[in-house]
Amino acid sequence: MKPATAHEPLSHAPGARRAFGAHRAVLAVVPLLLPESEIRLPGLCQKLEELFGMTTRVHAGGFDPSSALDPSRGQYNSRALLEMLLHEARPEAARVLGVGGIDLFVPVLSYVFGEAELDGRVAVVSTHRLEPERYGLPPDPQLSAARLLKEATHELGHTFGLVHCREPDCVMHSSTYVEEIDLKLARFCPRCDFRRRAPAKGR
Ligand SMILES: [Zn+2]
Ligand SMILES: [Zn+2]
Repeated sequence: MKPATAHEPLSHAPGARRAFGAHRAVLAVVPLLLPESEIRLPGLCQKLEELFGMTTRVHAGGFDPSSALDPSRGQYNSRALLEMLLHEARPEAARVLGVGGIDLFVPVLSYVFGEAELDGRVAVVSTHRLEPERYGLPPDPQLSAARLLKEATHELGHTFGLVHCREPDCVMHSSTYVEEIDLKLARFCPRCDFRRRAPAKGR
């Protein structure tokens, strides 16, 4: 089934965007059933630190997402995961990013690559549908890492109040299929970058 969109931002949460302007705000990275062999997390964290000017802290031991599992679908409800991540988040974390090796869904779509709270504090992404071998292609660790970085950046962009962008190579362009992720870059277009850094309205 073709999903309408691979990403659906959650509700508006005023106030969270100001954290970007803070000096070296903390981005908590929470592994969600990532395979033991997952060695891309340090590289992802380094790139996200460069892009967002934040300090990443990986949640040791990860996090058990099993209560978000829908047994009838064999997939994890990403909205439930966002709520769990938010509930578990340490107060010093300006942003929380769950990085999973699990299949994510929202009830109206067959799958999502990730989800985020729009203008909020929490986001989740998964490597599950980013691997070429899932589509019968040879493994390509570099391609998988690039896709993960783009999707993590995209979902974190939503937490800074960004909505989907029409620029085809902007990281905030919506992607339904992995091939569409490959067409965009791991960067914000000038317009999204300006919006991301702008103070939230009303302050
Ligand atoms: Zn999106
Ligand atoms: Zn853009």
